[in-house]
Amino acid sequence: MKNCIFCKITNKEIPADIIFENEDLMVFKDASPSAPIHYLIVPKEHIQSIAHLENNHKEILSKLIYIAKEEAKKINLKGYKLIFNVGKDGGQVIDHLHLHLLGGWNNK
Ligand code: AMP
Ligand code: ZN
Repeated sequence: MKNCIFCKITNKEIPADIIFENEDLMVFKDASPSAPIHYLIVPKEHIQSIAHLENNHKEILSKLIYIAKEEAKKINLKGYKLIFNVGKDGGQVIDHLHLHLLGGWNNK
């Protein structure tokens, strides 16, 4: 979607510190990390938020969570938090669905 910063990142129009990418999604480092490890798992399709999910989005949603688990495993995180902020009142600032992976407090 035009003027969406996460669409621009997934389309490689603006740079990010990319950790992993496949045809469905991208994982990149949060630019203002809230934890020693702070990744964002972002679908390439522009979906505004969890509140805007439709029935046909169930598959991408499970892929986001699965990849979060995979990336956490790759860097040996034993525990972590997975967070979706939903809507302005839920702390969502970027209106393109994303899953926060936070961890590393005991690794560093
Ligand atoms: P949320 O509050 O759930 O919408 O989270 C948006 C997150 O995106 C915040 O943690 C920001 O630090 C992060 N962020 C904003 N712009 C960028 C960017 N260009 N590259 C990487 N992360 C970003
Ligand atoms: Zn977008």
